[in-house]
Amino acid sequence: MMSECTHDCSTCGEACAHRNQPESLIAEPHELSHVKKVIGVVSGKGGVGKSMVSSLLACAMRRRGAETAVLDADITGPSIPKAFGIHERAGANEMGIFPVLSSTGIKVMSVNLLLENETDPVVWRGPILAGTVKQFWQEVIWDDVDYMFVDMPPGTGDVPLTVFQSLPLSGIVIVTSPQELVSMIVEKAVKMAELMHVPVLGLVENMSYFECPDCGKKHEIFGESHIEEIAAAHDIKAVAKMPIDKDLAAACDAGNVESIIVNYLDPICKALEE
Ligand code: ADP
Repeated sequence: MMSECTHDCSTCGEACAHRNQPESLIAEPHELSHVKKVIGVVSGKGGVGKSMVSSLLACAMRRRGAETAVLDADITGPSIPKAFGIHERAGANEMGIFPVLSSTGIKVMSVNLLLENETDPVVWRGPILAGTVKQFWQEVIWDDVDYMFVDMPPGTGDVPLTVFQSLPLSGIVIVTSPQELVSMIVEKAVKMAELMHVPVLGLVENMSYFECPDCGKKHEIFGESHIEEIAAAHDIKAVAKMPIDKDLAAACDAGNVESIIVNYLDPICKALEE
């Protein structure tokens, strides 16, 4: 214990009986990185559109004038480079690794940008996956970034835990589908964030409805939306609904996510700016 305990554990590393906060495991970023806000984008299971939302948020905030970045922490299922049409490999020198710039200047880092062949599978165990994400934070020279979106792998395994513990998250955005909302999965994501003392900034219900291009009627294909109730139950202020939109899927598949201008995620963007 320090000779005079100030009871301010953030200024002291001693594991004494007076310690009132767990020791921080936050990793230092690269000395040349200046990242103002780190936002985790999470989901309970795969395929609900988490990568789509991460990419669209980075594009939307870029259009609003911010410097943005996407750290693809979904190491075994990386889809960010493809959405941005990036197929080149990331460069590096003795100082560190450089993110690849998208056509509108969004910084991207993904394991796919480091592999010899982008179709090679990543067959690594949990600790190695988690270590890679930490390296993306510590060894990549991000330079100046206002908003970094971390596309997390689904669930609550090793990698999401590492992101929660090692990166200084300002908050998370939870992406769900309507079916998921009625289950416990969203609840689990909210509780994990609470456990890690990270605020939930917003909730996105993806594939919420389909709007008929002929008559304009909205059909809730996957069932009735419960997003507002769930958000209210957890005091989550920003809520967004994104429809099933074939143009979104086509643009992502073609590597043109930056060409999409939609306003579905505006409530989340506003919450980020606040
Ligand atoms: P996740 O990151 O959660 O695994 P993705 O973002 O990769 O999910 O999305 C899975 C697939 O669904 C992708 O092919 C994507 O283009 C498509 N997709 C996601 N959201 C929508 C949407 N709102 N409308 C149409 N297709 C979508």
